[in-house]
Formats: sequence, structure tokens, C-alpha cells
Amino acid sequence: MRRMIAAILLLLCAAGCTLRPAGYTADFFAMDTFMSITAYGRDEQAAQQTAVRCEQRVNALEPALSRTREDSDIYRLNQAAGAVCEVSADTYAAIEAAVEYAALTGGAFDPTMAPLTDLWGVNTDAARVPAQTEIDAALARVGYQNIDLLGENQVRLLGGAQIDLGGIGKGFATDAVAKLLDDEDSVLAMLGGNIGAYGQNPSRDSGNWVVGIADPDDSADYIATVEVRDRSVVTSGDSERYFEQDGRRYHHIFDPATGYPADSGLRSVTVIDTVSTRADALTTALFVMGLEQGMAFCAAQNVAAIFVTADKQVYATDKVDEVCVFTFLGEEKGYAYAQ
Ligand code: ADP
Ligand code: MG
Repeated sequence: MRRMIAAILLLLCAAGCTLRPAGYTADFFAMDTFMSITAYGRDEQAAQQTAVRCEQRVNALEPALSRTREDSDIYRLNQAAGAVCEVSADTYAAIEAAVEYAALTGGAFDPTMAPLTDLWGVNTDAARVPAQTEIDAALARVGYQNIDLLGENQVRLLGGAQIDLGGIGKGFATDAVAKLLDDEDSVLAMLGGNIGAYGQNPSRDSGNWVVGIADPDDSADYIATVEVRDRSVVTSGDSERYFEQDGRRYHHIFDPATGYPADSGLRSVTVIDTVSTRADALTTALFVMGLEQGMAFCAAQNVAAIFVTADKQVYATDKVDEVCVFTFLGEEKGYAYAQ
């Protein structure tokens, strides 16, 4: 009898252990946004170790990607007036990726938007609508072709170009977190609008992670969910960073063709991809392209994307069903799923 009770206890413990691994969440502020990394492990100490290791990696990347910190590589490069600069391996890799995605999107994503970003000052006390002459002068300095990657972490900026990695920084950080993990790890990393869902979600039978697609009019509410595993889900839109002047909204994603905030009829774009840096660059680029051009780009490049338009239509590309379980929930909030 005693042996039987012991066996039952052992079985219960085994079930309990697999059903309820310990979780630990690290909440912190980095890259100008709130971040939250939850890790699961066999006990709380293991989970905490993983979460803290991820947090430390993200914090260490901040000076590698920032352009406002005066001790950062990008700040130095932007002030170098065309001279060759040696940057860290992380900074070089991020610039290299940015140039690759700029070429892929025909410059809709362009990492040399810094003069325009500075001019408009969205999310700063200096936010304003600039004069056309100022916009023209800033635009003349925009062009990713002016980034000269010389190898061995050496970079030179030509034609007055200045780098702004704001459009891929959080994606690059999400990929850096993914690289720290092994097959046993379970981690949900929420770096602002960038989510990385890795390994098995212990609280669901399917092992998938459920990620909400926010309502652009109410970021606390969802209009759809995607169930994913070992993928990143990135959303860019006009609802978080903007200012209003004379009844108009001016947001932070600029169209390199006009120098104005992209006015493409979209409210948000979400991309699901194994590479978060790519997803981050593509959400920005697709937001600039708009629905029609964006859908054509996704079909040609096999991109899983979800578009939310200003007239409350939700579109998903064919690839979405291949990489996740997509559930539309926006009907009650006035959205329509245009299949
Ligand atoms: P978020 O930072 O809110 O996640 P994005 O990933 O779309 O949003 O990045 C927007 C940021 O990228 C802007 O704040 C600016 O720094 C930069 N940016 C704006 N327009 C572009 C563009 N067309 N291409 C590349 N970067 C851009
Ligand atoms: Mg982006």
C-alpha cells in the first residue's frame, strides 16, 4: 500500500511538474519603450536566470543601436562628417541588415531617415510641422545608398547621411534574445511592439503562444489573435507615437518619397517572421507602401502580414495561414475581415 501511495505521489508530482513549470518575468524600460521578458524553467531560479540573461543582452544592445546617446557608435558615426568609423560588431551587423532591407523594399524602409526624424521631432517637446524648404533639405540627405560598408566593422556615411535604426532596433534586439536560447528554453519576449515567442508555451496544450493584434483605436483591446511558436510578431502603426496640429495627426513613420508621415490609408501592419529584424523593417516599409503595393510585395516575397486600414478593413496575406493560427475578433468593434 505504501509503495502504491508513493507511486501515485510520484505520478502527481511528475504531472504537476510538466503542467506547471516555474515562470519569471523581467519588466524593464529600454530603447524608449516598456519591455517584458517571461521565461519558464524547471524551477524559479532557472527561469529567472534565463529572463535576466535576456534582459542584460537587450540593455547591452542599447548603446550599439541608439543614435541619441552621445557615447553610442551611431552618434559618433553621424557626427563624423564622412570620415571612416570603426563600430562594434553589433552596430555593424544592424546597419548591414538595415541596408539589406532598404534594398529589398526599394527604399520604403530607409535607415538614413535621421534628418527627417529630427526635423519633425515626433514624441519630443519640439514636435512641429516643418516648412517645405526644410523638408526638401532633409530629404536631400536621405538615401541608404550613402551608407558605405567597408568590412571589418568600418563604416562611412556619404552625402550628409545620418543613420536612424529606430525602425529595426527592437527587432534586432528580439533576434539577439532568440540567439541566447536553446531548444529547451521557453521565452515570451515583448519588446514594445516586437514580440518573440520561443519554445513551448507551458500554459497551453498546443504549446503555442497567443499574440493579440491591437485595435489601432484602443491599444488595450484586440481585433485579432495569432497563435505562433518560434516566431516573432511585429506591429507598426500610427497610434502610439504622434502629435496633433490643426486637427491632423502626424505620426512617426515617414514616407521617403514625400518627407511627410506616410499617408497610405493604413492604421497598422503586423508581420510574422522567424527573423524579427526582417519583420520590423518590413512593418515600417509596408506601412509606407500602403495596402495595394504592400500586398503585392508580400505575395512576391512570401511575407506573412496583416494590414488594418483606416476604413476598418483587415487583410491577411496567404502566407499568414501557413505560419500561424489567425483568429479575427474585430467584428464587434466595427472591423471587417476582407478575405
Ligand atoms: P516603432 O518604433 O513604434 O515600433 P517602427 O518600427 O515602424 O515603429 O519604427 C519607426 C521608427 O523608425 C521611427 O520612429 C523612426 O525613427 C524610424 N523611421 C521612420 N520612418 C522610417 C522609414 N521609412 N524607414 C526606416 N525608418 C523609419
Ligand atoms: Mg519597424
